[in-house]
Amino acid sequence: MAQGLVLPCASCGQKNRIPPGRLGDRARCGKCQQTVHEPGAVVAIDRDDELQSLLEGADVPVLIDFWAPWCGPCRAVAPEVAKVSARHASDVLVLKVNTDVDPAVGQRYGIQSIPTMAVFRDGREVARTSGSRPASAIEQWMAQALGR
Ligand code: ZN
Repeated sequence: MAQGLVLPCASCGQKNRIPPGRLGDRARCGKCQQTVHEPGAVVAIDRDDELQSLLEGADVPVLIDFWAPWCGPCRAVAPEVAKVSARHASDVLVLKVNTDVDPAVGQRYGIQSIPTMAVFRDGREVARTSGSRPASAIEQWMAQALGR
């Protein structure tokens, strides 16, 4: 159940646990002291196992932007997703997942096209949509999915 967020350090790979309720705080890696979480910043997670442990422990809703570098609409939606992340710094964790890195991700989540956005709560997917759209539309869709 909700144990907090497990975020891998981009520099050294160490898994860091962010305790429940601390999403709005800056977090540093316990091993190398690099920043592993900046409030309001989109977190990049590309590996299936890392995504799994993060979603399983998450105490907040998680919005995932599945993307790939060659995808034009993905580049268009990225800044919109970043705006959503900045506006929900303490109540929603926003991830970007490059589906080209680990094929297991696309298989597990059945990603048919990109960009695909999905909302997870308590480790389960509660909504999914594809295609680019402005931040306000993403927020509206997410709020509806979360019953807010
Ligand atoms: Zn580190």
